[in-house]
Amino acid sequence: MYLTQRYLLTRDPQPYCDDRLVPLTVGHLVVECLSLTHLRHRYLYRCRGRDSGVYYISKVFGPECLAQGHDVFRFLGEAGILPKL
Ligand SMILES: [Zn+2]
Repeated sequence: MYLTQRYLLTRDPQPYCDDRLVPLTVGHLVVECLSLTHLRHRYLYRCRGRDSGVYYISKVFGPECLAQGHDVFRFLGEAGILPKL
């Protein structure tokens, strides 16, 4: 959680996403961030609500989805997030 929580230790301003509209959190990156939409559709489509089409972080980080090799790790990896957490 280094990238998103570091400010708590260093007293730097809280980091914001590239769009500057929302605080940079893992939740934002995984289920909200528009700049990662294409990766989300590719790797996390199983984590979408069947009716709403909304992504649920509870699904992304649900027990069955944290199994080794699950796509959330590829999502985070290709998004460049993994090395910074
Ligand atoms: Zn964003």
